[in-house]
Amino acid sequence: MFDNLSDKLDKALHILKGHGQITEVNVAETLKEVRRALVDADVNYKIAKEFTATVKEKALGQNVLKSLKPGQLMVKLVKDELTELMGGEVAEVDLSGKPSVILMSGLQGSGKTTFSGKLANFLKTKKTKKPLLVACDVYRPAAIDQLHVVGDQINVEVFSDKGNNDPVAIATAGIAHAKANGHNVVIIDTAGRLAVDEVMMTEIANIHEAITPNETLFVVDSMTGQDAVNTAKAFNDVLNFDGVILTKLDGDTRGGAAISIKSVVNKPIKFIGTGEKMEAIDVFYPSRMADRILGMGDVVSLVERAQEQFDEEEARKLQKKIAKNQFGFDDFLKQIQQIKKMGNMKDLIGMIPGAGKMMKNMDIDDDAFKHIEAIIHSMTLEERTKPQIINSSRKKRIGAGSGTSVQQVNQLLKQFDQMSKMMKMMQGGGGKRMMQMMGK
Ligand code: GDP
Repeated sequence: MFDNLSDKLDKALHILKGHGQITEVNVAETLKEVRRALVDADVNYKIAKEFTATVKEKALGQNVLKSLKPGQLMVKLVKDELTELMGGEVAEVDLSGKPSVILMSGLQGSGKTTFSGKLANFLKTKKTKKPLLVACDVYRPAAIDQLHVVGDQINVEVFSDKGNNDPVAIATAGIAHAKANGHNVVIIDTAGRLAVDEVMMTEIANIHEAITPNETLFVVDSMTGQDAVNTAKAFNDVLNFDGVILTKLDGDTRGGAAISIKSVVNKPIKFIGTGEKMEAIDVFYPSRMADRILGMGDVVSLVERAQEQFDEEEARKLQKKIAKNQFGFDDFLKQIQQIKKMGNMKDLIGMIPGAGKMMKNMDIDDDAFKHIEAIIHSMTLEERTKPQIINSSRKKRIGAGSGTSVQQVNQLLKQFDQMSKMMKMMQGGGGKRMMQMMGK
């Protein structure tokens, strides 16, 4: 996410990060570079210019050059301003209606249907809501089918009326259906066109007027940069929407839309889409995004994702097993599966401060655990619980069965052995012995 922009900003801020003396001249030079980085990221020139002007003004106001750590202070000013530009505070969706009606708008292909599913899934699992999805695309029967597929995937009911070509009537009937069946959130997926046109705008405006939704969300493909911003403006003029959903951030290396959309339409970004899977949805936190853009990682989100996967009961069982020396390969497999649920590897690494930059040129397999899982799957149940019985003929068999080599099997066994010892040590005499080992 935003690799190019992060790279350029990192280079621009290099001097300020303590690699040389800071003077008025190089502060000005740095801000010029920051502006260039923003413009290259497809941020509107005027916004980029205002951005650096504000940072400069604040730097002068706070007498940065005379401060104890001028570099750090400047980086902080850039970060704060970036946060502000992206909306400052996190913006929630309004779920107070009975039911709450959420209307989706946007161009075709922006990711509306996918996001409708993601949002339903998010509200169901995180906010214990009972959502209903309503298919209002009367032009493409395939779009209705697609919403049904999504609904099945996440176990959320989909209301549709194939053959009816009046989206207002379908939306109204959908809401009535929700009321009658105890759904407290209705998500209405509407038709999109390939470009903004009058017919489309009139249609969505009519739906909007007829159902007066609690939330109107505008979905846009982040990779389209300035086009995304212009489309947002066109939709906002007609709908006066409540929030923006930026999709496909996983493929966006520039970040121009994320940075400038708020200041152009004055509406917050509420969620982001970071992949095709139903779980690839995140609440948009401007400050965390600024951290990520500046290569400072996003530890808070990383911890949150870990917490979401954390199961207290499982953890307790695991602790017992470790204490009794019974931690086996099946437990290891479970751990791997939990990590995988947290997201793809590249995304997770990007959240570790500094790591994203360090590892950006490395080819990180989305499925980094593929070989390990294959090896464990090729073991018998007995081998998984008692790895010590794995002799050389068993190793050969496991290697062949998993499509790996005996060396790879050996390597995993060794790592597993070390890990088990380490876990045992942390459990028992605690960290003290570990610290001693580490020479502390
Ligand atoms: P709609 O026409 O606006 O309903 O768009 P769709 O929901 O059909 O999405 C269009 C394409 O974009 C599909 O292939 C989706 O899988 C893909 N897509 C949607 N959201 C994301 C995302 O956050 N990341 C990625 N990589 N692909 C996405």
